[in-house]
This record gives sequence, structure tokens and C-alpha cells, in this order.
Amino acid sequence: MNIFRDNFALIAGPCTVESKEQITLIAKEVKAHGAAFLRGGAFKPRTSPYDFQGLGEDGIALLLEAKKVTGLPIVTELTDIRSLPLFEEVDIIQIGARNTQNYELLREMGKVKKPILLKRGLAGTIKELLMSAEYIIANGNENVILCERGIRTYENTYTKNTLDLSAVPVLKSLTHLPVVVDPSHGTGRADIVPAMALAAVAAGADGIMIEVHNDPSCALCDGSQSLDFVQFRGIAAKIFKIREAMK
Ligand code: PEP
Ligand code: MN
Repeated sequence: MNIFRDNFALIAGPCTVESKEQITLIAKEVKAHGAAFLRGGAFKPRTSPYDFQGLGEDGIALLLEAKKVTGLPIVTELTDIRSLPLFEEVDIIQIGARNTQNYELLREMGKVKKPILLKRGLAGTIKELLMSAEYIIANGNENVILCERGIRTYENTYTKNTLDLSAVPVLKSLTHLPVVVDPSHGTGRADIVPAMALAAVAAGADGIMIEVHNDPSCALCDGSQSLDFVQFRGIAAKIFKIREAMK
């Protein structure tokens, strides 16, 4: 399956859509430095119900505006099947770590005619991720992209999650599905996202998904793991160099 140009895609954007200015600015910036998809959350599954929950329907509308301005296809998370009608012009639907084993939602994704970016569960094994993908495929949608986003381990003191890069070659040996790595949620730390992004490319990832914000210290969500524009530019250039060296 080749849903990415040249079999590789850099996917980037803010954790959450905050305003028209923010998403358009970030979209233009990531496009200028090689991103093939804009990613931003409109429906945010937050650990605390008191944290910002996303702009919802308005967030989707802002993503679509940014898509119109930049031409970048968009990736955004679906948390509730009742929101599906809002996703008509969304290019890739993300199913987040918290919903990886929501089998009813996965069955519904089998009926959708769009690629589904399926994240590994917070403490999910590789087999469980593959079985979740199977729920979508067995229900009629073979367009599944697997996403390694780190798992809970006993070393989640210096890092938010442990990014399991061995999952990349393992998944690629077990399935033909593309494998994307998300070093932002995989580490929780902007300072080590670049190193892990490069390692993921070297491990054979088909795509890298990175959180980028115009002002990470003021981000409404996941600012500590979001790269600023200077950091993103630097890492994007290196990602393409490593990718080239892998050929
Ligand atoms: C996200 O992609 O912003 C997100 C909440 O990720 P995850 O589902 O991997 O925690
Ligand atoms: Mn996030």
C-alpha cells in the first residue's frame, strides 16, 4: 500500500487546533519544510476532564480552512462515532491510544472509505495493535496505518512513555501496513524528539508524526513535547537526509 508520496510522509502540526491564525501559521510553516500532512486535534481525549477538550466542530472547520490555504491533506482524531459526519473532508482519521481497543469504534472504521491512522494503546502489545487493525480490515477497510507512540513502562520518569522502536521492524515483518512513529507522545520531551525521530527513520518507519507549535510555552495542549519552528526546520531536513541514506 502506498498512500504516502515516495513511500514516506512527514506529518506535523499542533497537538490541538487553537485558532485560525495558529493553525494556518503552523500549516504554512510545516508545509514549507516538507510535511506532507497537517495534523491537529479538534476532539482531544484528555486525561483530565478539566483540561482543554479541543474546539470540536469549529476545530475541524479551521483545519479545513488551513487545508484550503496550503493544500495539505489533514489528519485528525475521531473520538466518538457520532462526530463522523464532520469528518467528510478529513483525509486521514486518527484513532488515538485510548480508543485502540474500542472495538465498536474500530468496526465502524472498517466501513469508512478513508485511511485510518491507528495508534498503539497506552500499554498495548504489538499483537494487540495488530488485532485492533484487524478489526478495521475485517470490516472492510484495508487502509490502516499503524502508529507507534510509546508505551507505559517502569521508565516513565524521565520520559512520558517509552518509544518502542523495535516495534517498527517487527510490525514491518508481520504486516504490509505502513508504520508511522510519533516521537512526541513517545517521549513527552521536545529536547529528545529530534533524536528519536531520526532513530525512527533509521529503524525503517514509513512516516514520522511530530507535534509543532508556533509558541510551545503557550500551547493549550502538549507544549512540553512540541517543537518550535526552528527546531522543526532542523529536524525535518535531517529526517529527509536519513531517509535518502536508507535507499
Ligand atoms: C495526540 O495524538 O495528540 C494524542 C492524544 O495521542 P495519543 O492518542 O497517542 O495519546
Ligand atoms: Mn498531543
